This record gives sequence, structure tokens and C-alpha cells, in this order.
Amino acid sequence: MQNLTRKIMLAMLVGAATGVVINLFAADVAVVMDYVVGGLLYVIGAIFIASLKMLVVPLVFVSLVGGVTSLGNLATLGRMSVKAISLYMVTTMIAITIALSLAIAVGTGADFDIGGSSASFTGRDAPPIADVFINMVPSNPIAAMASGNMLQIIVFALLFGIALTMSGERGKTIIALFRDLDVVVMKMVEIIMRLAPFGVFALIARTFATQGIELIVPLISYFLTLTCALGFHALIVYPTVLKGLSGLNPLTFLRKMRDPASFAFSTASSGATIPITLRTAEAKLGVDNAVASFTVPLGATINMDGTAIMQGVATVFIANVYGVDLTVTDYLMVVMTATLASIGTAAVPGVGLIMLTMVLNQVGLPVEGIALIIGVDRILDMMRTACNVTGDCVVTCVIANSEQALDIATFNDPAAGALELATEELPASKA
Ligand code: ASP
Repeated sequence: MQNLTRKIMLAMLVGAATGVVINLFAADVAVVMDYVVGGLLYVIGAIFIASLKMLVVPLVFVSLVGGVTSLGNLATLGRMSVKAISLYMVTTMIAITIALSLAIAVGTGADFDIGGSSASFTGRDAPPIADVFINMVPSNPIAAMASGNMLQIIVFALLFGIALTMSGERGKTIIALFRDLDVVVMKMVEIIMRLAPFGVFALIARTFATQGIELIVPLISYFLTLTCALGFHALIVYPTVLKGLSGLNPLTFLRKMRDPASFAFSTASSGATIPITLRTAEAKLGVDNAVASFTVPLGATINMDGTAIMQGVATVFIANVYGVDLTVTDYLMVVMTATLASIGTAAVPGVGLIMLTMVLNQVGLPVEGIALIIGVDRILDMMRTACNVTGDCVVTCVIANSEQALDIATFNDPAAGALELATEELPASKA
């Protein structure tokens, strides 16, 4: 395993162990909780997430403009969009179907004791469908960038890139500038990645220090069913899709997913992980920038298989807890709603629970049921985000391969895109 990847994995393990120890032995020690967990760990983790988010907007914009200009023609862009959106939707449907089947088979939630629970949860409404389409077009692209609205940024970057290509000679210098800027922003990503072991340690340690394992006990069947469904999707379904649709080696793929999966796990945000996902797709998996710069940010926004799996298991759990019998039509409704909701709620933060609210409303289940599972949601959110990001990369590889935009030698090279920890590339400062 490469140096940096190994350090990040180690930071996760040591972080988890430190967090559990703090939770078990120092949860009541104010100094530890205030200054170490709420102070030091919180600050380092928050700085790490902020520095990742800092790169998302410049990277997506610069990279996508550069990518579109190298596509050659609009037909390719159209074909790629259709493939990406269809594959993202199909994988999400498979994900939720697996989740529902598994949760029904094990009857998760049937023995849950709701007695005395005063939990309450107020759902948030999803945006009306017409607004979803209208909101894809930024009335002010600067505002879109300032608020990090990914779909709006994608739309503006596509249009800008297309216009550049159509501008002939005059567009050429700007295209060259964007390609150079892309290299610079990618270097910024690499600098932040080198600091990742500290950020990952702080985030994981804080999560485990504040999320007591005892919360999981009453929800163990929900937790395990969800974990198994996520594992099955990531380790069986994705490799099958990858092998079946592109012939690429799934083991090589999974090995290369370690960086983005661990970033996704520690930050619990596909959006904040975009810089790492994009770098992995291009430098490690060998996907051409023209494909990855489009499919990765799009996937981080609309493709949430792990989240869909959570919706499936949570729906069955809540139905069982409240003793509601769902029909086959209800289940089909859940599949449709969760798939469409993942696109509809694209630009909304904290998307998982809003989607779940929509799904529960659709089949007439009480939205307060969400309060029962919210206590363990953070750790599950980390796992499903890792699954979400893996799905984005699977689809990216499949599309790139079908467009002859994947460099198989890079894909197969275990050392491709490896980053060493040492800052040997930094020029020596002048005395
Ligand atoms: N945290 C998830 C992600 O960013 C979304 C969710 O499930 O809430 O991919």
C-alpha cells in the first residue's frame, strides 16, 4: 500500500480507538471533553473539512470547463449525460431494491420496543419538482459559486466550455489558461491530501468520542442490516457492474478506492470529497479529464446509492416498529420515490433525511419514526457516503471505458497517482 494511503488508513484506526477510549473512560471528564474533543479535535477536523470544501468550487469549474473544451463535439457531451444519468438511476434502483429485500427478509425493527419513546422529528419538505428544473439554471453564476450550488455550477461551466470551443482562435488562449489552472488546483488538492492523516484522525476520534457505542445496541438489527446491505452493494454489486459493463478488474478498482472512500467516511460528505474523487478517477483510475470532470461532480450531487439503501432499510424498520403492513405497490413506490428524490434534492444539504421524509410520506408512514434512528445516523452516514462515492467512480469508469477515454495502463498500474508523504516536490526555499 502506498505511503500516504497507509497513513490515512492508520489515522482512521488510531482515531477510532482513541475516540472509543475517550468515550468509555473520559466521557465525564470535562477537561477532556471540552478541550480535547470539543476543542483540539473539533478545530483540526473543521479546518480539514473547510480546506477540502475550499477546493470544490474552483476545481469543478476549472476542470469541467477544460474537460468540455477537449470533448470535440456536443454529441459526445449529450451521449455522456444520458449514459451518466441512466446509470446513476439504475444503480440507485438496484441499491434500494437490495436494501428493501434484505430488511424485509430479516424483519428489521419487528422486535424494537418503542414503549416510552418520546422521540420527535419534524421533516423538511422537498422542493417542488418544477423548482428543481428551474433551479438548475443559475440566475447569477457568482451566487451559484458562492453558495456552492453544484448543479448550477455544472450548467454554467458546460455552457462556458461550449462557448469557448465555438469561439475559435480567440477562445484558444482561454482554453489553454483553464487547462493550466486545472493543474494548479490539482496541486492544491495534493497539498491538502498530504495533511489528511491529521484531519482524518481528528474527525474520526471526535465522532467516536461523542457517539457512544451503547446508542447502537437497541438499534442493532437496523444497524447491521444497513451495514450488510451497504457492504453487499459496494463489494458485490459494484464489482459485477464494473466487470459486466466494462471488463475492468474490480479488485484493482476497489484497491484504488481506498483514498476517496476513507475521505468520504471521515467527512460524511460526497461534496467535500469531490477533489479526492476527481483526483483518484484521473490519476489512479486513468479516466480522461473530459469524462471525470463531468461525471464526478454530477455523481456526488445526484447519485446516492448508500443513501438510498438507508431509505430502504429505514422504511422497513419504521413500518415494522409502528406495525404498518406495506404492500408490494408501496415498496415499488419507495423504489421510485427514493430514486427520483436523489435527483430532486440534489442541491439540498443534509439530503439523506429529507429524502427519507419524502419516502415515508409517500407510503403514509409516520415521519417521527426518523427520530428513532437519528442517534446512530452519523456513523451510518459515514459508511453510506463511502458507498456513494464508490458508486460515482464505478459509473465514471464504465462511461470512460465506453467512450475510449480510460487509460488501461494507468488503471492497471498499482503505483499510478500515488502520493508520498514527503514534500520532496516543493522547491527548496532560497536562503
Ligand atoms: N452524507 C451523504 C453524502 O454526502 C448524503 C446523505 O446520505 O445524507 O453522500
